[in-house]
Amino acid sequence: MRSRESFLVLLAALLPIVLLSALCWRIADTELHNQLTTAAETAVSDADRFLDRIAAGLRERQGMIGASCDPETVHRLDRMTYESPLVRTVGLYDAGGRLYCTSRGPADLDISGQIGDGRRGGLIVRMGRSALMGTPSIVIDNSRDDGAGINAVADPALFDELAAPLAFAQGAALQVTLGDGTLLRETGQPVSALGAAPISLTRQSRKFDLKATVTVPGSSVWVLFRGDLALFGMAGIILSGVLVWVTTRRVTDRQFLSRGLKAALRRRELEVHYHPLIDIQNDRCVGAEALIRWRHPERGLVRPDLFIPIAEESGLIIPVTRWLMNRVRDDFEGIELPREFHISINLAPVQFRDTVIVDDIRAIFSGRNLSPAMLVLEATERFPIDDAGRKVIDALRTMGPGIALDDFGTGHSGLAYLQKFHGDYLKIDASFVQAIGTDAVTRTVVDSIINLARDLDMEIIAEGVETVAQLEYLRKRGVPYAQGFLFARPLPVAEFEIYRRTHPTPVAHHLAAGGDVPMAAVLRA
Ligand code: C2E
Ligand code: CA
Ligand code: CA
Repeated sequence: MRSRESFLVLLAALLPIVLLSALCWRIADTELHNQLTTAAETAVSDADRFLDRIAAGLRERQGMIGASCDPETVHRLDRMTYESPLVRTVGLYDAGGRLYCTSRGPADLDISGQIGDGRRGGLIVRMGRSALMGTPSIVIDNSRDDGAGINAVADPALFDELAAPLAFAQGAALQVTLGDGTLLRETGQPVSALGAAPISLTRQSRKFDLKATVTVPGSSVWVLFRGDLALFGMAGIILSGVLVWVTTRRVTDRQFLSRGLKAALRRRELEVHYHPLIDIQNDRCVGAEALIRWRHPERGLVRPDLFIPIAEESGLIIPVTRWLMNRVRDDFEGIELPREFHISINLAPVQFRDTVIVDDIRAIFSGRNLSPAMLVLEATERFPIDDAGRKVIDALRTMGPGIALDDFGTGHSGLAYLQKFHGDYLKIDASFVQAIGTDAVTRTVVDSIINLARDLDMEIIAEGVETVAQLEYLRKRGVPYAQGFLFARPLPVAEFEIYRRTHPTPVAHHLAAGGDVPMAAVLRA
């Protein structure tokens, strides 16, 4: 195998594995992100729920703010400690920050330093000390705008039930903190035990000034990745095997064809078939497209689509075309041809790079029955319109052949390309012709191509005409020429000659009048 082919096989082997690994990595990454998000969101919503219960009790008693500390007030504050068992005390404070009444009775304590000045109005959760007992507590203040308010002092055990983060194989930490950074609760492993580059994700509560952060070791994504790879890896290996097999087959196939083609030229395994070109306004055969055939001793007839690209790549297209042109000349030697008769020859893009083709045509056709002026040279849209290309076209033109743009509509060339191309004929690709009568959009495209060709002074050849309906459509729009199985299949020269001389036959007139049997079928019968 040459290095290019070895590279292709290697690529076939590695590509599925590389792509699959990338895919597994993405899946693992997303999976981890989703798990962390779920853990953090669950913690936040649990914390919200615990606090909400207390906040609701405080809101219910909002009207009591500023009330005098009589037994009825004390009783109503105290009831809240029964409703929420983790609430130790509930108290009222005035605008100056003096706690004057609690669920345990009247009081007189300055808590202004703890509430802080900036915290007027709304709910605030803070870590504090029970004003009465001095133990660490969670305090929820519900202040009015003037600074007076009601608060509840709860046991930090309030957050004990916060779910531990989902089970990560390599450990995880959950931290719930207040806006000021005070830690409310920490579960799982200590963050410091999670390795050098841990991955963290934080979710903020929308109700209270708190957030939950879940942290896992940096290697967690690897662990998930390895799991996914184990799951999908087999598929990758099978795919890679299949691709290697297909590529190897293709590569050896191409080598086989490339080597074989050279031998085919020597062994005279190549043939030329002629596909009639019909003037559809007068129903006369006015030419043919020369199409190459390879009759392989073992493989039978090899399609040109298979070996022409290989011939182009290897440069063999030059001697192959040279052989074809010689064959065409010999096939028509001694045959009397009408003056308007044309033979089309397909040229590959590489043949427009230098003037070898010009010399070949001159040498093969000059002074012959089939003169260069009776040729049409077909180029596809892959033909490069650069300086070299122009030079070749101009040189060809001076000898007289017409120039056609083949397969028009299948490439990416636009109007600019067409204008620069300066061709004599435009061949509408069969795919458009065959859509006539089936879909309106393509029909519009066909019409546009016809108009475009007219504007550019190019004659149209419609390819692949298979039905009378298509023929009628094209005829009505004034398209002059067509090729297709409706008229005939590509034929060996002897059969083509019969066809040319006998066309139109009475049967053809019958067909044009509405019959729908392909002409080739009629001819074969
Ligand atoms: P192309 O130049 O577009 O040639 C027309 C192809 O369409 C021919 O196939 C012809 O048999 C087929 N065709 C014609 N009418 C119909 C129809 O009504 N229905 C259908 N379904 N198909 C139709 P073929 O002979 O297999 O040629 C395939 C391609 O091979 C050609 O396409 C051409 O690009 C290339 N080729 C053939 N001979 C040569 C050659 O000597 N030199 C170069 N460079 N290319 C060639
Ligand atoms: Ca062609
Ligand atoms: Ca074509």
